[in-house]
Amino acid sequence: MSLLDGRPLAAAIGEQTAEEVSRLAGLGVQPSLAAVVASADPASAWYLRSLARAGDKTGIAMRELALSERDAEGVIGALDELSADASVHGIICLTPLPDGLSLASAAEHIAPGKDVDGASPLGLGRLAAGLPAFAPATPLAVLELLHAAQVELRGAEAVIVGRSTVVGKPLALLLLAEHATVTVCHSATRELALVTRRADVLVAAAGSPHLIGAAHVKEGAVVIDVGTNVSADGALVGDVDTDAVAALAAVSPVPGGVGPVTTAVLLRNVARAAADANRGSSGG
Ligand code: NAP
Repeated sequence: MSLLDGRPLAAAIGEQTAEEVSRLAGLGVQPSLAAVVASADPASAWYLRSLARAGDKTGIAMRELALSERDAEGVIGALDELSADASVHGIICLTPLPDGLSLASAAEHIAPGKDVDGASPLGLGRLAAGLPAFAPATPLAVLELLHAAQVELRGAEAVIVGRSTVVGKPLALLLLAEHATVTVCHSATRELALVTRRADVLVAAAGSPHLIGAAHVKEGAVVIDVGTNVSADGALVGDVDTDAVAALAAVSPVPGGVGPVTTAVLLRNVARAAADANRGSSGG
């Protein structure tokens, strides 16, 4: 088993969440997650199935609202309604969204206390300012994997390949808060391998199959592969060419690395949101 195997970590987080859910059940609270979906994207469908499976195990209820891929107003209306619905504790909005609607602008319609995937600009701003906020689940999962493997982050050279609002940017904030020295690469980065070879901790989140090979990795580095790319034969492949890199560095597997931990931390956030809402409503 790889040091960076996500499945046992996800199971451990799931058990803690299940305990919290049963504590909340004793108070008459049923934690629930709502997902707004406006496309028939296979990756979204796959993610929803794994959330539903993990939700069943932890006791978190899940509701899915399917809308047309042309219905931007419907998406916003659904997010407004769910934000006002006291029986819903967490809301996620899956991409792709209807043309002209970005995730950040849709997520402005998610009530801050229910933004369990840290998708709104407000949440990202709070994270940047060091204020309490739900961090997006995928970058949080990367951090959980690094902590579980006891990787020293203080002073470490951390290089992230990818600067998206859902992965690269929030991950940079989380790693900075851990006192790593953070570099973020993107498609205009010159000499990518020169930059990534500096990394003690390298995170690949580019969405480009096998972008990271042996030439990109320093010996002894820890490599976290966020990429989930579907190959021509339907298999899931990461951004890292694991066969080429494994002799040099510890690499998280795809599938079975970041993915299951992402699901687990998202559901943990839902249980936390439900506990926060219950404290708020009971004046505690
Ligand atoms: P995204 O929005 O497409 O962003 C990709 C980023 O990678 C961009 O910043 C892009 O640069 C950069 N990039 C692309 N090709 C590059 C290259 N050749 N060299 C350097 N930088 C490059 O993707 P995302 O939503 O962040 O997702 C990234 C990957 O993670 C995808 O495979 C996605 O499926 C996966 N993912 C996995 C999980 C999980 O839980 N496991 C969750 C979310 C996403 P520019 O900004 O210059 O375009």
